[in-house]
Amino acid sequence: MNNPSTSSPAPNNTAGQPTDVVIVGAGIVGLAHAAHAVANGLTVTIIERDHHAAGASVRNFGHCCITAQSGELYELAQTSRKYWLEFAERAGFWASESGAVVLARTEAEMNVLRELSAVREPGQVELLSPAGTRDRLGAAVSAADQTHDDGTHHGAWPGLVGGAFLRDDLRVDPRTTVAKLAEWLSQQPGVELHWNTAALGFDGNADGVTVQTSRGELRAKQVFVCVGHDVDYLFPDLAAEHRIQRCALQMSLAAKPSGAEFTPAVLTATSMLRYPAFTDMPAAAALHSEVSEKQPELLDIGANVMFTQRPDGTVILGDSHHYHHTADPFLDEAVTATLNTEITGRIGEPLEILQRWQGIYASSDVAPILVRETQPGVTVVSVTSGVGMTLSFGLAHRNVSRLS
Ligand SMILES: Cc1cc2nc3c(=O)[nH]c(=O)nc-3n(C[C@H](O)[C@H](O)[C@H](O)COP(=O)(O)OP(=O)(O)OC[C@H]3O[C@@H](n4cnc5c(N)ncnc54)[C@H](O)[C@@H]3O)c2cc1C
Repeated sequence: MNNPSTSSPAPNNTAGQPTDVVIVGAGIVGLAHAAHAVANGLTVTIIERDHHAAGASVRNFGHCCITAQSGELYELAQTSRKYWLEFAERAGFWASESGAVVLARTEAEMNVLRELSAVREPGQVELLSPAGTRDRLGAAVSAADQTHDDGTHHGAWPGLVGGAFLRDDLRVDPRTTVAKLAEWLSQQPGVELHWNTAALGFDGNADGVTVQTSRGELRAKQVFVCVGHDVDYLFPDLAAEHRIQRCALQMSLAAKPSGAEFTPAVLTATSMLRYPAFTDMPAAAALHSEVSEKQPELLDIGANVMFTQRPDGTVILGDSHHYHHTADPFLDEAVTATLNTEITGRIGEPLEILQRWQGIYASSDVAPILVRETQPGVTVVSVTSGVGMTLSFGLAHRNVSRLS
C-alpha cells in the first residue's frame, strides 16, 4: 500500500467498522485533510484514482503565496503557513521560510509595492533597492556581472529599479512533497491509502456514508471529496453552479543557471496584476495600463511571469492562463517562448529548457474556494483560484476542526 507503483487490494471495509474519514484524491488538498484528521486522532482512508498523484499538486511552482492574499484567503493562508511548516517537520519534506522577491523594473511596479508595504505590518513587505533585491536573491556575481557608474547593472538580475521581499511566503518542492506526505500518512496508525482506486458515487444518510469505488465499497462517517478540477466528473450540477472551469497553464523546467542560486520565489509585474493583495492597491490600475501598453503579449496569454528554483537548482518557469471546460492537450510554443524569453531577461542569462508540461487547476468566477456538503457526511472541497498549495493546510484545518 505504501509503494505508489504497486496496485492496491480492494478497500472493501463494508464488513468491518467504518473509517472516521474517507478522503477522495491524494493531491495536496486531500492529503492536508488527511494530515489534520490524523492529528485529531481520527481513522482515515485515502483513495486516489492514479498510481501516484500527478495532478496540479505536482505541476506547480511550490510557492506558498501567503503575503499576496487578502481577506479570508489571507487568514487561511497564514494558518496554512503554520501547518505547512509543522507537517514538513513531521513528514520530512522540504519547506523553506525563504520568502518571495518581487522584481520591479518601473516606477509603476514600485508604486504597487510601496502601497502594499504601507498597509502591512512593518517588515512583512520590505521595500528593496536594486542592490538589495540582488542581495535577497543571493546573486552569484560572475565576471560579466557589474554595476556601471551610471547605475546600470549587467549580469544577473539586470534592469531593476528595486523590488520587495515578501517575508511570510514559503517554498516547497512540488515534485516531492505530495509523495513524501502520502508515504508518511500511510505509515501512521489508523490510516489506509489505496492507489488506483477511483470514487464513483456516494450515498450519505444519518448512519454514515457509503462510497462506491472502482474496487468495492467503503463506509465512513465523513467523506471529503478533494478531486481538484475534476469536480464535474462526480458532481456536474455543483460544478456548473459554481461555474468551475479548467485553467490550463504552460510551464517549463530549466537547468540550473550558472549565475543564479536563490530560494525565494521570484514574482514580476504580471504577478502584481493577479494576486489580490496587489490588485487591491490603487496603483495597480496604472500598472495594468503600463503593461497593456508596453507588453500586451503578456496580458494576451494571461501571464503571471514567475519562477522558483528547486532544491536541485533546476528552475520552474511559468505561467500562462487559458480557461476551458475541457482543456486541449496541445501546448502552443509561442506562449512558452513568450514566458521563457521574459524570464531569461529577468535572470540575465540564457536558460536550457529541460521539460515542458501543462498544469491544470480549478477556476471559478463565483468564489476562490468551494466547500459544499452535497449530502449528509459528504463534503466537496476544491480551491477554485490557483492557490491550492498556499491554502491547503489552512482550509483543511478549518474543515476538519468542524467535525468535532
Ligand atoms: C501550473 C500550476 C502552477 C500553480 N502554482 C501554484 C503556486 O505556486 N502556489 C499555489 O498555491 N498554487 C499553485 N497552483 C494551484 C495548486 O497547484 C492547486 O490549487 C492545488 O494543487 C490543487 O490541489 P488538489 O489536491 O485540489 O488537486 P490535485 O493536485 O489535482 O489532486 C486531485 C487528485 O484527485 C484525484 N482524483 C480525481 N478524481 C478522483 C476520483 N474520482 N477518485 C479518486 N481520486 C480522484 C486526482 O487523480 C488527483 O490526484 C498551481 C497550479 C498549476 C496547475
